[in-house]
Amino acid sequence: MRPSLLDPLFASVRSLSGIGPKVSGLLATLLGTQPPGTEPRVGNLVYLPPHNVIDRRNRPGIAYAPEGAIVTLEVRIDRHHPSPSGRSNVPYRVFAHDDTGEIGLTFFHAKQAWLEKVMPVGETVIVSGTMEWFNGRPTMVHPDHIASIDDMASLPLVEPVYPLTAGLSPKVLARGVQEALAKAPEMPEWIDPPVLDKYGLPSHRQALQTLHNPQDPGDIALDHPARQRLAYDEFLAGQLALALVRQKTKRLSGRKLDGDGHLKAKIIAALPYTLTNSQSQAIKEITADLRQPERMLRLLQGDVGSGKTVVGLLAMAHAAEAGGQSALMVPTEVLARQHFATIAPLATKAGLRVALLTGREKGREREEILEGLRSGAIHIIVGTHALFQEKVAYHDLVLVIVDEQHRFGVHQRLLLTSKGTAPDMLVMTATPIPRTLVLTAFGDMDVSKLTEKPAGRRPITTAILPMERLSELVDRMKTAIAEGQKIYWICPLVEESELVDLVSAEERFESLKPLLGARIGLVHGRMTGPEKDAAMLAFKNGETRLLVATTVVEVGVDVPDATIIVIEHAERFGLAQLHQLRGRVGRSDKPSTCLLIYKGPLGEVAQARLKIMRETEDGFRIAEEDLKLRGEGELLGTRQSGTPGFRLASIEAHEEFLEIARKDARYILARDPELQSARGAALRILLYLFERDEAVRLLRAG
Ligand code: ADP
Ligand code: MG
Repeated sequence: MRPSLLDPLFASVRSLSGIGPKVSGLLATLLGTQPPGTEPRVGNLVYLPPHNVIDRRNRPGIAYAPEGAIVTLEVRIDRHHPSPSGRSNVPYRVFAHDDTGEIGLTFFHAKQAWLEKVMPVGETVIVSGTMEWFNGRPTMVHPDHIASIDDMASLPLVEPVYPLTAGLSPKVLARGVQEALAKAPEMPEWIDPPVLDKYGLPSHRQALQTLHNPQDPGDIALDHPARQRLAYDEFLAGQLALALVRQKTKRLSGRKLDGDGHLKAKIIAALPYTLTNSQSQAIKEITADLRQPERMLRLLQGDVGSGKTVVGLLAMAHAAEAGGQSALMVPTEVLARQHFATIAPLATKAGLRVALLTGREKGREREEILEGLRSGAIHIIVGTHALFQEKVAYHDLVLVIVDEQHRFGVHQRLLLTSKGTAPDMLVMTATPIPRTLVLTAFGDMDVSKLTEKPAGRRPITTAILPMERLSELVDRMKTAIAEGQKIYWICPLVEESELVDLVSAEERFESLKPLLGARIGLVHGRMTGPEKDAAMLAFKNGETRLLVATTVVEVGVDVPDATIIVIEHAERFGLAQLHQLRGRVGRSDKPSTCLLIYKGPLGEVAQARLKIMRETEDGFRIAEEDLKLRGEGELLGTRQSGTPGFRLASIEAHEEFLEIARKDARYILARDPELQSARGAALRILLYLFERDEAVRLLRAG
């Protein structure tokens, strides 16, 4: 259970005064709470870092205050000029002076009583706001702050500025943050004193204070000790959670998988191609891991089209040689079926039994599969999340392969792990994840890379076209179809939305059909499973030559003789997604083309993305550029899967702290594996604080 110390942070923001349903909804949008629409908590505000400050320390005196500058002035109030009665569009003006000159303070629709109260004639007050010179006269329209000399201390000379969303007033947000901050409890110290000393880190609460009440613009900088402290805490929570998972799975392990190679040899003999050197090397690394008594945790990185599937298959064959079962888990049903279709014939040649399990197998069929898994008759199971539902029990699951990993969250990984005693784990991803990101997402993991593509692949030509040239494009497609080419045509949404004017796949299908004839298919996410299969199969067989599709084909779909991909509204897609989509072509020895259709005008980021797509096919470079354009959380797909990303830590700015956190997490668990010590208790609080408490459950389970 969550320590009660943290309760105030987990209360709804509506427990704060001045935050009702409307503001709460706006905050949910701003903070991106998951699942969408969830009420934000007080803690979400506490851990919302300001991204800027307004510096009010400039006090030049009226005559020397430049146009447009934010200044703070100490002025004596001379006289009030209320708006003439009945003419509220004429502003209320208050005149004041200091030693250097006179200023007119201007108010529209002002409340006279209030103005007279805060600026009594003859008194000296502090005003702070943006300076304007109007017809050569200094003025200030609606000062941001007005305070008496006595209240001077309460005036924020350096004011934090938070990100905003439409409809949310900065004042309401800032007040909410302050109120939330007041509820943040003092935490027991979980950082090792030598680390605190070495980097001069403040306490957790002190760091939050500094962040939200900066005295200097530097106080909110990423390299300020306050921000470093919070980043370290966030990294430590993540690394500790990962280390706990590892500790738990290691404890269960101790299984050597010895294969004699006879099944692998049969499969390799059945392949219509020879393995690339990269593939052979990866298989060597994987089987070496499998032979070890330690549990394997390995990442197989290979750009789209590099041939990861067959590497996975050979790893599963090795497991079967050692008498164990393997599971291959993928994010979508389309992909599950496709993998099954590729793997089953090859595996069957080696005498292995392969089955498919998704949400769609029902009744008798499902029972038979479940029975086969229980008895061990099935050697290899391919499927979606259905693979780790409660009812699924395995005879002896020794290897789990997760394809296109970035779609799965930590939670799902944990569930899956609980199925076998300690299955070895291979994660296959096309996203070339930089090492630091691997570390934050997976902890220590070994990595195999497929650095070369199968021989004979031809580069993909990428072109960018405006929507206006659509009819010309359709003509080109007609010719291409006549030549016997296969074309994917990608549309962003399934149905015409009222809000966003995008072409839906259905509409595009209807409009292309009369132009191109009957040889055109459609596949989208709202179709039933069998409908999707039929559409994919018809395209694969060549019955249809052009397949209009939504992004259901984005990940992993393999129709090797497809040579053209058209992506409509390319400006709406992220870089990683465009790269994935483009990877659907260029899978044979024929030249391929990717046509990115955009609807102008293009924003800066969209323009940059399309340019990169045209310049390079190198997945690693694309991932790096993507990182620059989008930030870290999205690259790992944490947004999609709802795993909490990082709120305060920046991998770029705080890399050093990530490394320390990783070492520290290991050290902690080596000394105190159950987190029983006083520091251990504090660390449990840290895990809950950053919502890594899934890992705490592992402790109790032992
Ligand atoms: P990805 O790494 O994107 O998952 P796949 O495993 O789907 O790639 O493989 C892409 C295509 O390349 C498939 O059609 C597969 O049969 C083929 N392929 C895999 N390895 C080789 C190879 N060594 N030589 C030729 N073709 C290969
Ligand atoms: Mg794949």
